[in-house]
Amino acid sequence: MQHTALGILNTTYGYPAFRGHQAAVIDHLTAGGDALLLMPTGGGKSLCYQIPALLREGAGVIVSPLIALMQDQVGAVRQLGLRAAFLNSTLTLSEAARVEHDLLHGELDLLYVAPERLLQPRTLELLDRSTIALFAIDEAHCVSQWGHDFRPEYLQLAVLAERYPGIPRLACTATADERTRAEILANLRLEGGHTFIGGFDRPNIRYRVVAKDDPRKQLLKFLRDEHAGDAGIVYCLARKKTEETAAFLEQHGIAAVPYHAGLDATTRRLHQERFLNEDGLIVCATIAFGMGIDKPDVRFVAHLDLPKSIEGYYQETGRAGRDGLPANAWLCYGLQDVVMLRKLIDAPPPDGIEVDEMHRRRGAQQLDTMLGYCEVTACRRQRLLAHFGEVMPEPCGNCDTCLWPPETFDATVVAQKALSCVARTGQRFGAQHIIEVLRGGAAERVLRLGHDKLSTYGIGGELDVFGWRSVMRQLVAGGFLALDPEGYGGLRLTAAAGPVLRGEQQLHLRRDVLERAVGAGGGGAGKGAARKARRAAIALAADVDDTFEPDAAMTALFERLRALRKRLASEAGVPPYVIFHDRTLAEMARRRPTSEAALLGISGVGQAKLERYGEAFLAEMRGEEG
Ligand code: ADP
Ligand code: ZN
Repeated sequence: MQHTALGILNTTYGYPAFRGHQAAVIDHLTAGGDALLLMPTGGGKSLCYQIPALLREGAGVIVSPLIALMQDQVGAVRQLGLRAAFLNSTLTLSEAARVEHDLLHGELDLLYVAPERLLQPRTLELLDRSTIALFAIDEAHCVSQWGHDFRPEYLQLAVLAERYPGIPRLACTATADERTRAEILANLRLEGGHTFIGGFDRPNIRYRVVAKDDPRKQLLKFLRDEHAGDAGIVYCLARKKTEETAAFLEQHGIAAVPYHAGLDATTRRLHQERFLNEDGLIVCATIAFGMGIDKPDVRFVAHLDLPKSIEGYYQETGRAGRDGLPANAWLCYGLQDVVMLRKLIDAPPPDGIEVDEMHRRRGAQQLDTMLGYCEVTACRRQRLLAHFGEVMPEPCGNCDTCLWPPETFDATVVAQKALSCVARTGQRFGAQHIIEVLRGGAAERVLRLGHDKLSTYGIGGELDVFGWRSVMRQLVAGGFLALDPEGYGGLRLTAAAGPVLRGEQQLHLRRDVLERAVGAGGGGAGKGAARKARRAAIALAADVDDTFEPDAAMTALFERLRALRKRLASEAGVPPYVIFHDRTLAEMARRRPTSEAALLGISGVGQAKLERYGEAFLAEMRGEEG
C-alpha cells in the first residue's frame, strides 16, 4: 500500500502527475477538511475523493443519484484493484447484507450509495458503527432548487454535517454558476469548507454552431464527413424527436438508439449498456441521458435543438472527449428554436400551479445568454469561459469562429426590407410568411391575404430563403424583432427597429454558410479501413507533436491492441475503456514496451492492471516482432 497521494496516483492509476487542483483537494481532504470542488465534466473529480479515501482509515462513502451507473462505477474502480461496492434499491437483501458486513469489517475502500438509501435510519445506523474515511457528494448541484436536476432528497444530506462532524465532506459538481455554488454551500452546510474552482476549459473540444437549414440532413453530413464509426450523443428537446432521429440515422446505415425518461427501465438500461460497450453507437437523447456517464471516447456531442441554458449546454458538450483526444461539440440552431424555447418559457403552467414569475424571467435570461453565444462573431470559447468567470486572454484557435472567421456584410438595406415587411403585414406573421412575401412567393396564404399587393412583395430577390432566414434570426437575436408571447412565432417590431427603418442606424450581420469544408481534425472518414486508420492516427498523434505520422506497423499494432482489449473486456464484463483508454493503447503502440517495468511506464497502466492484463498485452506486442 502506497502512503502518499502521488504514490497512489502512480501505482494504482498509472498516471504520472496530478492535474489542476487535484493535489490540493486531496491534501485538504486527507487532512480532514471539507470542500466544494467545481471542475468541468472530464476534469478528473473522482480521483479527488478516491485517493483521500485510500489514504484515510475506513471507507469513502460516495453519494450519487445515479443508481443505473453505480454498478459500472464500482466495476471500473475494481479494475484498479480497489475494494468497492454499492448500496441501492437494486440489491437483494442478501447482497445488501454482504456489503454491510464488508463495510463494518473494514473490507471496503469505497462505498457508493444513493441519497435516499443513505438517509434511511438503517443505513445511518450502519455508518455510525463503521469507520468512514470521508463523504463525497457527487453531482452536488442536485441540491440546487434552481437547477434542472433538483432532487429533494439531496437537501436532507445536510444531516451528515451534524451526525458526522469529524468526517471530511467533499461536494463535487460540474455546474459552476454563482447561485448554484452558494446554494450547495448553504444547503449542504459546507460554509466552513474550502471552495476549489478548476479551470473550465476543455481545449480538445471544438465548439461549432451551424445555421439550421435541413437539420437532419446537416446532421447526417456532419456524421458522415467527420464521425463515421464514432460514438456520440445527439441531444434533442423532445422525446419523440429522439426516436425519430435515431430511426432516421438507422435508415441511413448509422447505428443509433433513442434514450429518454419515457422509455421503460429495461430499454434505457439496454441502450445505455450498448453505448458504453460498443465501439460506435450513437444515442439520440433528451437531457435525461448523460449525467455520470464517464465513457471517455465519446467523439462528438451534437445538439439538434437549442439548449435551454449555457450551463446545461456546457455540461452536455463536456461529455465529449474525456480522454483528451479531439472531439466536436456541434450545435445546429435556427429561429424556430428560439420560437420553441420562448413558448416553453411563456407557456402557462399546467392547471393549478401558480406562475412563477422569477422562474420565467430566469428562463428568458438564460435563453438570451444562449442566443448571445450562438450569434457571437468572436472566439466562442472565450465567450463560454467568460460565462463561468474565466478570462481567456487569446482566442482559442479551436472553435468555428477562430478557424473560419465569419464574414459580415452591410445588412442595413435587407434589414429595412424585412422590418418594413413585418410592419406592412400587420406585425403578426412568422418568419416563413415574411420571407415568402419578400421573395414574391405564391403561397396560398400570401394570395388569400392579398399580401401580393403590398409594396414589400417581391422586393427581396437578393437573398435566397436560407439567407433571409439568417437575417430574420439575427434580427430577433439582436432585439430588432420580438416574438409574440403566444408562442406562434409571430414577429413584431421593437423600439430598436425604428432607427434602422429610418436609416439612422447601419446594421452589419454575419453571412451564414451552409456548406463548409472541414479543416484538420476531421474529414476523410470513409468506410472500414479508412475509418480505422483515421481513428488510429488521431490517437497515435495525441501525445506527440503535430508533424508526427504513424507508420503502417504502428497503426496495425494499435488495432490489434484494441481487439485484444475488446476480448479481455467482454471476458471481464466491463466496457473496453475500463481496461485501458485508447490513449494508453496508442502509447503502447508507439513505444512498444517489452518488459513489465517498461509497461508500467505507460500512462494509464497501474499495478492492478499490470498484474491482470500485462502479460497479454506484452505478448501481443512481441507477436509483432516475431
Ligand atoms: P469527472 O468526474 O470530473 O468528470 P473523471 O474523474 O471521470 O472526471 O476523470 C476524467 C478522465 O481523466 C478519467 O478517465 C480519469 O482516469 C482521467 N484522469 C483523471 N486525473 C488524471 C490525471 N492526473 N492524469 C491523467 N488522467 C487523469
Ligand atoms: Zn476560439
